[in-house]
Order: sequence, then C-alpha cells, then structure tokens
Amino acid sequence: MEEKRLEENRHLREQLDKLLNEARRNEQTQTSFDDFSLSVVAAQGPKELFELLLHEQKKFRIDEIRLCLVDRFHEVERLLTESYQTSYEGLSFIDTETSNLLISDIPDRPVLGTRIISKYDWLIKIEETSKYHSAALLPLKRGDEIIGIQLLLSEDASRYNKNDGTTFLQKLGAMIAISIENCINRQRTLELGYQDGLTNAYNRRYFDKRLKHEVDRCSRNKTDLVCLFIDVDFFKQINDQHGHQVGDAVLVRLVALMSEQVRSSDIVARYGGEEFAIILPDTGIQLAHEVAERIRSKVEAQKLIFDDNTLGITVSIGLASLSQIRFQEGNDAQEQMDKLAGGLDQLLLRKADEALYQAKQTGRNQVVIQKITN
Ligand code: GH3
Ligand code: MG
Ligand code: MG
Repeated sequence: MEEKRLEENRHLREQLDKLLNEARRNEQTQTSFDDFSLSVVAAQGPKELFELLLHEQKKFRIDEIRLCLVDRFHEVERLLTESYQTSYEGLSFIDTETSNLLISDIPDRPVLGTRIISKYDWLIKIEETSKYHSAALLPLKRGDEIIGIQLLLSEDASRYNKNDGTTFLQKLGAMIAISIENCINRQRTLELGYQDGLTNAYNRRYFDKRLKHEVDRCSRNKTDLVCLFIDVDFFKQINDQHGHQVGDAVLVRLVALMSEQVRSSDIVARYGGEEFAIILPDTGIQLAHEVAERIRSKVEAQKLIFDDNTLGITVSIGLASLSQIRFQEGNDAQEQMDKLAGGLDQLLLRKADEALYQAKQTGRNQVVIQKITN
C-alpha cells in the first residue's frame, strides 16, 4: 500500500517537473521570439532585415526559409537590392503581370502541412524538395493587400501540422509585412536624396558615387564599362526662344527618352544644367556606341510640341570605355599610377567629357568615341 503511494508520488513529481520544464522552455522561446520581433521591427536596412528573416529566424526550429515579394513595377527589387547590386539567398521577387503566380491564389491566412511544399516547389531548389516534410506558408499582408509570402520549411514532418492553430503565425506575418514596408519606404526616402528634382534622373552626387562603385566592380570582374556624356545642343536658344519652362520640359522628356533606350540596370544621371551622364556597366564600346547613336537619332527624330510650337532638339554625346583607358595607359605604368591617384572613375569621366568636347567642336548632333593615342 505504502509502496503504491510512493510510486504515485514519484510519478506526479515527474509529471510536474516535465510541465515546469516545458513552461520554462516556452518562456525562453517566447522571450527569444520577442527579441527577434523587436530586432525585425528595428532593422536599419535591407541587409539587416533579410539576415534576420532568412537566417536568424531559423533558430525557431526552421530548416529553410524562402521569401518572395510582389513587385509589379520592378521598384521593390531595385530599392531593396541597391539597384540590383546585392542578392540574398532565399529572397525572390515576382512580377505578377508576367509570372504565373496569381495573387488571388495566395491564401488569406497561414496554411500548414506538407501539401504546400509541392504547391510552392518553385521557391525551392528541385534537388531539395524531397528534404522537407512539413511547411508553413505565411501571406504577408498590409491591410488587404498581399505584398509577398514567406515559406518556412522543416525536415521534421511533425513541425507544422495541417490542423495546428495559426493565430501566432498570422501575427508573425503581419509584423514581417510591416517591417518590409518600412524598409522599402526608408530606401525610397534615401534614394530621393540621390534624385534630381526636375527630371527624376539620378543626381551628380549619386552618379559620382555609383561610377566609382561600378568601375571597381567591373575592374574586379574584368568586364568593360562605358561612360556616356550627353549635352543638349544650343539649349540656351531654346530657353531664349520658348522660355525657361519649355526648357525644363525638354529636359524631362529627354531623360524619359534616354531611360527607354538603356537597360534598367544602367544609370542615367543629370550631371548639371543640360548635361547628362550614363553609366553602362558590363558593356563594351561597340554596343555602347550603338546605344549612344540610338539616343542621338531618337532625340533628333522626336518633335516636341509645346503651346502650338513644334521644336526639335539635338544632342552631342561623348563616350569613353574602361578597357580603352587601360589599353591607352598600359604603356606607361608610372603615368597610369599618377592618374589612378585621382581615381580611374574620374579619368574615365574626363575622357568622356573630352570626347563630348570633340563632338561639339566638330559640328554637334553626333557621337564621338574617345580617341586612343599611343
Ligand atoms: P552647346 O551646343 O554649346 O552646348 O550650347 P548650349 O546653348 O546648350 O550651351 P550653354 O552652356 O551656353 O547653355 C546651356 C544653357 O542651359 C544655359 C542655361 O540657362 C540652361 N540651363 C541650365 N540648367 C537649366 C534648367 O534646369 N532649366 C532650363 N530651362 N535651362 C537650363
Ligand atoms: Mg552644357
Ligand atoms: Mg549645351
């Protein structure tokens, strides 16, 4: 009899210990999750935010994480990846116009289980799909709008069960969505400081910074890069004859036209008054010449109508490429070093400007490539 009671007591104590341990563990998880949430909300930029969402979050018994953001106008990707300079493993962007994922197919609330893995296998590497045995899909929503999805994958089939509650995950999704939106807005504000107020092209400050970055990157990757310098011909006359406002409108149209002729990853900037500069990274001089010639001829062909006046403008363009500078300077190592002290980017800019000067001197409305002298 006595022995039976002792046995019961021991059993009860064991159960109590188990419950206490579980409570302690839950408390730890909760604290750890609260810390995580606070870090996500306070993240200072895309790098920090995606490190948290794609890596740090794995500590909550998640084996792999995918994040996919809706990007109708290719703006989100540009803002979050430093104009396509950075990529994050596990992060992708979907243009819902061209992709076959329909926003209406994304569930309104989190969904758990194994079936999600096959449904969203396009977010997982083919060879890895068999590794995961359960998953949670979180719709990321701002108000009623879906801004993306997050997929939490586990190798453990019991991690996410179809019938488990999803209130917690729903809150998590809302918190992540707000943090991503904040991050996009922050990047947008930062970028505004790099934009020319009139034309929305990048400004000179951004251009100089970016040119340095691109020259370094292309030098490292051993690819070529071309810099275009563009100046409107006789622009003063347009102002004098039609007024400053028409002059302003011409500059806005010109930026729109130039942007149409280059890739979205190229950089179009207003360098000063009626002067523009374009960086074509990973591009050789021949292709750049074609681009420049296309811009020149499209500008010439374009007839602008302002207040019943039709006016035509032309531009002169100077080109310089990184490989030509390397070739030209190659024979004189010391001279090259001296010039490098001022920066290869500045040298490139000067060469493009010299080519533009040539274009102006020899008749305007033309494209001139920097001369190579031996
Ligand atoms: P060229 O073919 O030699 O380049 O002749 P140009 O008349 O274009 O050159 P110049 O440098 O003599 O004149 C540039 C003019 O651009 C003078 C200036 O008033 C005008 N300009 C500069 N910034 C702006 C602007 O923001 N808006 C307008 N409307 N005009 C501007
Ligand atoms: Mg000028
Ligand atoms: Mg001019």
